[in-house]
Amino acid sequence: MTDLNSCPLCAESYDDRNGLRVHLEVEHRKSEIVSRLVDLDAAVADGSPDERATAADDEPPAPTA
Ligand SMILES: [Zn+2]
Repeated sequence: MTDLNSCPLCAESYDDRNGLRVHLEVEHRKSEIVSRLVDLDAAVADGSPDERATAADDEPPAPTA
């Protein structure tokens, strides 16, 4: 068991990739993850919250034909 995965959002650790994936999708919604990353990037770049962080947050998944 050398394949430890840790959640970058809450520091939870998992020894199963699927466990981490499920955790991310359930505990942290994908849009939330993006917002976190954007917010972190914005905080580093500008040091203040950006309204654009919530602009592209409600896009439904594109249907695959
Ligand atoms: Zn987490």
